[in-house]
Amino acid sequence: MTDRVHVNARTDIGCVRELNEDSFLASDPVFVVADGVGGHARGEVASRTAVECLARHLPAGSALDPERVIEAIEAANTEVRALSNSDVVGTSTAGTTLSGVVRVTQPSQQGDRWMVINVGDSRVYSWDGNRVEQVTTDHSVVQELVEAGLITPDEALHHPDRNIITRALGSGDRVDVDAVFIPDSEVVAFLICTDGLTRELSDPRISEILRGNPDDPADALVDAAVAAGGHDNVTVLFIPTVTAL
Ligand code: MG
Repeated sequence: MTDRVHVNARTDIGCVRELNEDSFLASDPVFVVADGVGGHARGEVASRTAVECLARHLPAGSALDPERVIEAIEAANTEVRALSNSDVVGTSTAGTTLSGVVRVTQPSQQGDRWMVINVGDSRVYSWDGNRVEQVTTDHSVVQELVEAGLITPDEALHHPDRNIITRALGSGDRVDVDAVFIPDSEVVAFLICTDGLTRELSDPRISEILRGNPDDPADALVDAAVAAGGHDNVTVLFIPTVTAL
């Protein structure tokens, strides 16, 4: 099964930042991005710690039990939380977003399903071959303002608080993970990205780039985000689902 999921993945430091604090794991059945929070090396260590913890806890090769995925995320939360109390990051808080998809089995369901997970403001989109649609809901101050009707989604892009997230791995002893399940047959591909992509490119522009670059979608999106300013680190994973191949 491993060779049936072909991922196109790319990360770039961008044009402004001195470090790339994004990390990713793209090893079937686990595909996640993490965007470190905390400034300088703190964010870098936090995002790397989270994805390395998932890699250790979740074996590669076959679909997983969803409960095991949640346990691995809780373990990652504990490890990132511990960074804030260690010499690695001094006395400052370290945190990271975590978003992605994991191929899972559910006893009550026929066939493989995808577990879409999210903590923070990195995103998972579904791709139907024509348009992207955001699956995850951002855990951010601006998302709350949009939902309250106080600002529009366009205003959120330029809001001074646009970088403030309301959930992160490492911010507390427990982590609240959003999880939804999608049958493999319902999606052509998943796009997983950090906010370095969505800060630079609108959803219609992302769809347009995907339509024009079927062979190297992640490379094309990262190149476009960097060309648009590259104000943040940018990481993109593009994962065709099994049924689509
Ligand atoms: Mg970012």
